[in-house]
Amino acid sequence: MAFSVPKGTKDILPDEVAGWQRAEQAFSGVCAEYGFREIRIPTFEHTEVFTRGVGGSTDVVRKEMYTFEDKGGRSMTLRPEGTAGVVRSFIENGMSSLPAPVRLYYMINAFRYEKMQKGRYREFHQFGVEAFGSQGPDIDAEIISLLVLFFERMGVRETSLCINSIGCPECRSVYYEELRKYFSDKLTDMCADCNERMKQNPMRILDCKESRCKVYTADAPRQLQYLCEGCKEHFEGLKSALNDLGIDYTVDPGIVRGLDYYTRTVFEFVSDHVGTQGTICGGGRYDKLVEMMDGPAVPGVGFAMGVERFLMELQSQGIELQEKRSVKVYIANLSDETLASCRKLAYRLRCGGIGCETDLVSRSFRAQMKYANKAGIPFVAVIGPDEVAGGTFSLKRMSDGATAEFSIDDSIPDINHYISEKN
Ligand code: ATP
Ligand code: MG
Repeated sequence: MAFSVPKGTKDILPDEVAGWQRAEQAFSGVCAEYGFREIRIPTFEHTEVFTRGVGGSTDVVRKEMYTFEDKGGRSMTLRPEGTAGVVRSFIENGMSSLPAPVRLYYMINAFRYEKMQKGRYREFHQFGVEAFGSQGPDIDAEIISLLVLFFERMGVRETSLCINSIGCPECRSVYYEELRKYFSDKLTDMCADCNERMKQNPMRILDCKESRCKVYTADAPRQLQYLCEGCKEHFEGLKSALNDLGIDYTVDPGIVRGLDYYTRTVFEFVSDHVGTQGTICGGGRYDKLVEMMDGPAVPGVGFAMGVERFLMELQSQGIELQEKRSVKVYIANLSDETLASCRKLAYRLRCGGIGCETDLVSRSFRAQMKYANKAGIPFVAVIGPDEVAGGTFSLKRMSDGATAEFSIDDSIPDINHYISEKN
């Protein structure tokens, strides 16, 4: 029997890894320039972290979590996202006593039991940031501009930014009343989930993907019409900060986001290329979340980007990311008598940071040359009996056969210099 990967998971093969590494480097670079520091949190948490942190009315908690009982009878869940775990860590490690804003970023895998589709997997990856302790809209605009810069560095164009405000608990209660009024005579035509949402969190109905519900949600009242003065001012502040930065956006009053914890700012970066799963990145403000998780009253804002969807977007824009090959020299072995010198040279070059390979499968000299050529290794070092006797080796450039002699004891920087100059 041949094994295969579980449904919804994928191998990321060496040919694809270049894109992942480039994205990871660019993302951590941009985050560092904005003063964000990396945090690494566990892959699983006590289930309560997510039921409380993500919210009981969300699809994520109701249907998508990988929850299991461990051998000690505790309920554990594989993280479906990063924010709840980061907030747990923020509280547990007393980070609210650090100078504000506390800025953290992460690069994680996450797990959701979802129906497999293009851009939708059961194990997927997210890059995200969380910033704690700043109330105003400036930091919202900063994290949006961080993303814009990341996209720019990766060469990605044409993703559109949509922003919205979903208010605070005060103005939301007024809005919920309006929503309940609007949906009250339509519920019999709507799905069972929406009937449940009506009781728990009627705004969640606007996120329903069923067409019989969408008929009604299109004309439903929007939170934006019911913002209180404070929330209105915050939203205006965000827009003017984005204008100052020259960042284009569309106000989309329909964005509600899939997680329960958001307040005020919510935003998405959307692309036409990724098909129906067009949201590459979602984020927003969560001013009550730290308190909801038994921490101090500290506001927060963050986003999470789906790495698979981002890389699909790169590909559809024709952006090719070449793997950087580090092996510069193939050390060809002529016979058993030269083997020891080959081994030593290989180790010496590697100690000096020059990537090299040598024969490990007893190929003939001809086959070794063919291999080096096919592998695209730019130089071949040859050590024959004469070279062993003279303590030298010759370095041949594969592209044109140009050859230089080196002493086995030549300084590594000299050899390196030659390679970078001639490559
Ligand atoms: P969607 O509406 O597409 O289900 P969501 O609201 O559930 O998205 P978030 O929880 O905000 O998504 O996660 C942020 C990002 O993570 C998404 O914009 C998406 O790019 C990515 N993402 C979420 N779920 C998956 C998944 N199952 N497979 C791949 N990427 C995902
Ligand atoms: Mg989802």
